[in-house]
Amino acid sequence: MKLKRWLWWPILLLLTTFAINGLSTHGWPAYSQNAPSTLGFQVSTLGALNIGIYEGATTMAELKEHGDFGLGTFEGLDGEMVILDGTVYKIDVDGGVHRVEDDTETPFSVVSFFHRQRSLPLGGNLSYQELEQRIDESLPSLNWPYALRIHGTFPYLKFRSVPKQTPPYPPLLDVVRNEQRIFEERNVTGTLVGFRLPPYLSNINVPGYHFHFITSDRRTGGHILDGEFINPTVELDTLDNWQIMLPDNAAFKQALLE
Ligand SMILES: [Zn+2]
Repeated sequence: MKLKRWLWWPILLLLTTFAINGLSTHGWPAYSQNAPSTLGFQVSTLGALNIGIYEGATTMAELKEHGDFGLGTFEGLDGEMVILDGTVYKIDVDGGVHRVEDDTETPFSVVSFFHRQRSLPLGGNLSYQELEQRIDESLPSLNWPYALRIHGTFPYLKFRSVPKQTPPYPPLLDVVRNEQRIFEERNVTGTLVGFRLPPYLSNINVPGYHFHFITSDRRTGGHILDGEFINPTVELDTLDNWQIMLPDNAAFKQALLE
């Protein structure tokens, strides 16, 4: 049976409307009032961490109310934090992984409930810098924050952890320069948990890419310094809301923050 000509027009109009509203440029899901919005939640500010405010600001129990995916550190700058699928892991200065109790506190962390908005299969053998460039080229805007998850087997990863500090706390840069421990792994399987933040948030959080890593067998991990990637697939979630929980402790209240 042939459709009458006048019947085609509403169908065509419907398809056109979907094409415009359903997808934005580069095939990204459009932002509209109907799209679910994802919240990025952070504890304290990078500026505060940089000057040595390592006092706990909130607990893991409270942090997990705001996300099942994230990174950060623990009271006293006690290692590197990875939160994956709702479980909080601490990578200590020896590179070992421990599960963390709910009453453990954090001075600085970033979390979100990860919803894969898009997968980016990136072909080729990529350095860490090339990985960042390729993701940048694929983003619909460099002015939104993104949560990023990369799972796979990586030819090379270089990462670090830091030892727990005691008061009076030294600045972050001093700890990293003098006391960080660096680890290297080849052909290692695991997950990179990270965020990309626009440069305009640079006093608030790490501008650009910030990844922590954990192996699939939960043996080791840390804050990523370098790596090599073969045909990685990057899962992304746009964070179109951002919330900052400011510490209610004497160290934060009395600090001179710019
Ligand atoms: Zn880090």
